[in-house]
Amino acid sequence: MRLACLSLISFGLLTSQAHAALIINVNYSGDPQYQSDFNSAAATWQSLLIGYQNGLVVNRTAGSSYSIGQTVSNVFIDAAVSLIDGAGGTLGSAGPDQIVLDAASFYLTTDGAMQFDSADWASLTPQERQAVILHEMAHVLGFGTLWNLNGVYTNGSGEYTGIFATQAWQSEFGQSGTPDVELGGGTGTANAHWNEVDNGAGTTGITDSQNRDMRDELMTGWLNSSIFISNMTIASFRDIGFTPVTTVSNPEPGTSALLGLGLVALGVAKRRRL
Ligand SMILES: [Zn+2]
Repeated sequence: MRLACLSLISFGLLTSQAHAALIINVNYSGDPQYQSDFNSAAATWQSLLIGYQNGLVVNRTAGSSYSIGQTVSNVFIDAAVSLIDGAGGTLGSAGPDQIVLDAASFYLTTDGAMQFDSADWASLTPQERQAVILHEMAHVLGFGTLWNLNGVYTNGSGEYTGIFATQAWQSEFGQSGTPDVELGGGTGTANAHWNEVDNGAGTTGITDSQNRDMRDELMTGWLNSSIFISNMTIASFRDIGFTPVTTVSNPEPGTSALLGLGLVALGVAKRRRL
């Protein structure tokens, strides 16, 4: 989990809202030509996650943009393109900086940060860039970063135990038991992604009804040549306090088209850590 104490965020207090819709505010500092990529990623997650099941703040970290008694709606994300580890290796990293506990006992992100490696950024295709931003934004919202706190994962277990993603694991991918979590890749990759073959070195053999392999799912630990967002990923957000769009066992092909990520063929497989 990355709950580093960045104290750079100084938004004003917000008034409570009747409906806890999700609004993602990205404070991006960098080349303006990429601003639209961040806006697009925010719009995608807003359309998929819609809002929160509860969101009423009963406890908070000291730097959160929210106070006790308010209802979470906006998430504030600082985004920057800066040097991480040079070309290759890590493409990006992200996580919550500030969280709250809501009245339904969910830990929710209110403020977070995303970083993208400047050494890799320009070499990414537009589709890869969009995938990487969507991926890191999911970490800010809690995917893999607030699993422990929300009781859906224990580090080292390799098994995600949240009920809704588990249902999707079984119905969408025809698996038994609970979703497999990545244990390879070291800190930052292990315990925070769906499992795939380390370094994306091969397919997993775990496929959905459209024969899409888990290797290509957005929230595995390595960027792949084609990307899709599974119902399992969307359902996992229900396990940690969001109200996502209703998941279906057999997603329409249009789901991928909507996300602009379906059937992205890049020709060259790029295996890089997310
Ligand atoms: Zn990741």
